[in-house]
Amino acid sequence: MSETQNKGLVAVCPGSYDPVTNGHLDIIRRGASICDRVVVGVVNASLRKMAPLFNADERIEMVQQAVADLDNVEVRAFDILLVEFAREMGANVILKGLRAISDFEYEFEMHQLNRKMAPEIESIYMMASPMYSFISSSGIKEMVRFGGDVTDLVPPHVAVRLVEALSSQSS
Ligand code: ADP
Repeated sequence: MSETQNKGLVAVCPGSYDPVTNGHLDIIRRGASICDRVVVGVVNASLRKMAPLFNADERIEMVQQAVADLDNVEVRAFDILLVEFAREMGANVILKGLRAISDFEYEFEMHQLNRKMAPEIESIYMMASPMYSFISSSGIKEMVRFGGDVTDLVPPHVAVRLVEALSSQSS
């Protein structure tokens, strides 16, 4: 019986957040409304071939600004195994957003691996809200690079940083 007792929810919300979008923020906010504490984990090392547009400090700062009104959310960089990061943060949940079948296949695999390494940490998946389900950081960067308007897709301070970063890149 003791194993099934509710110990309160402390979630880590991992991602590259390059940059944070309204889709990420929807998951973080919904997570914060049901969890005692949410730690947004900004990946500071990646196996992905593409270097991030923004460095970790910039990505963290943009998320921090966007969640400044939420007092149970904090933002941290990490460059270790996600389950180790979760343990260090005292988290018992990994919280992720799911957009489409393509997200599901990757997440399903990661879930099995994380579960094997850390059976005490539960993964929880929230379905993307329909109005954000098509948003990805890479899509947003591509839009801005070609002059598209991302006003409704990212917070205003992120839109400004994107235009600055991508226009300086192309000049
Ligand atoms: P991206 O795929 O946009 O580069 P990340 O690697 O930063 O994003 O993803 C971090 C987490 O946020 C993942 O769980 C991902 O599924 C989720 N996520 C990203 N965009 C959205 C969105 N528009 N709606 C819901 N969840 C999302």
